[in-house]
Amino acid sequence: MKSPIQQYLDALHEQLQANTEGTPYQGIPATAVADPQKFGICLATVDGVVYEAGDTDELFSIQSISKPFTYALALEDLGSEAVGQKIDVEPSGDAFNEISLQRGTGRPDNPMINAGAIAAVSLIKSRGPRSRFSRIQDFYSSFAGRDLELSSSVFNGERMTGFRNRALAQLLRSFEIIEDDPDGVVEDYFRQCSIMVNARDLALMAATLANGGVHPREHNQVVEPETVQNVLSVMTTCGMYDDAGSWTTSVGLPAKSGVGGGIIAVLPGQLGIAIYSPPLDAHGSSVRGVETCTRLARDMGLHFMRSG
Ligand code: GLN
Repeated sequence: MKSPIQQYLDALHEQLQANTEGTPYQGIPATAVADPQKFGICLATVDGVVYEAGDTDELFSIQSISKPFTYALALEDLGSEAVGQKIDVEPSGDAFNEISLQRGTGRPDNPMINAGAIAAVSLIKSRGPRSRFSRIQDFYSSFAGRDLELSSSVFNGERMTGFRNRALAQLLRSFEIIEDDPDGVVEDYFRQCSIMVNARDLALMAATLANGGVHPREHNQVVEPETVQNVLSVMTTCGMYDDAGSWTTSVGLPAKSGVGGGIIAVLPGQLGIAIYSPPLDAHGSSVRGVETCTRLARDMGLHFMRSG
C-alpha cells in the first residue's frame, strides 16, 4: 500500500511528464544530448525518509547547484565577515553568466552568479595533502552521504567552451578579488560544475541544509547552523538569478537551479526537494523542475510567507 505522499508524487510526476517545453543546455556536448524525457522527483525529510518518483537514479552534472555548497565551505573556512569582503549578498537580478562586478571594487554582487561563484572557489585553499578541488569534492560528498565523482566529458566540455568564465576570473584577479592564479581557480570551478549527482543525492544535500547542517541519515554535522542560515538566505534572494522575484512569489522556498537540469529547494526544518529534468527555460532552469516546485508549494502549502 503506497503512502498518500507517494501517491501524490506519482500522480504529479505523471502529470508534469506531459510538459515538453524547453531545451536541454546546448552549451556543452554532454548536456546537449541529454534525454528530454528523463524526469525524476525526490523529497528527503529531515528524519531521513526519502520519497522518489521517476528517474531518480539518473546521473547528471551538478552545474550551478554547486554554488551554494562552495559558498558554504568558504564561510566555514573564513567566516562571513572575511567572505563578505570579497563577495556581496545583494540580489543582482542578473543572468547567471552576467559580467557584473561592483563599480570601483570589482566585488561580485552575490555567490550565486558565476562571478561570485568563481570568487568563492578562490577562497577555498588546499590543506595539507588535500587540494582545493578534493576539499570541495569531499565537502559535497558529505552533504550527499556518498562519494561523488567528476565527469571528465562534462569537465572537458566546460574547458572547451568556458571563455566567459575565464574572462570573469581574469577580471576578478585584476580587482584583487581573486588573489591567486585565476586560471587555476576557474579550472576548479569547471571541475565543481562537472560533479555528477542524481536527484536523490541532491534531495539529501538539500535536506542537510533543511536540517541545520546535519545529514538526515548519517547524523553528522556537515556545516554549522549559522552557515546554513547564510547560504539559505542568498539562495532565497539570488538562487534563481533573474527569475528570483517571480520564484519567491510563486514558490517561496530557497532554491538553486543548474543547467544540467537539476533544481533543489529547501523547506527549513522539514524537507529537501530535488528535481531532474533536462529541458530548460530562458533563465537556464529546468522547466519541469520549476513546475514541480510550484505545484509542491501550492499543493502542500510550503510557501514560507504562508500563514493560516
Ligand atoms: N558551468 C556553467 C557555467 O558556468 C554553469 C551554469 C549554470 O548551471 N547556471 O556557465
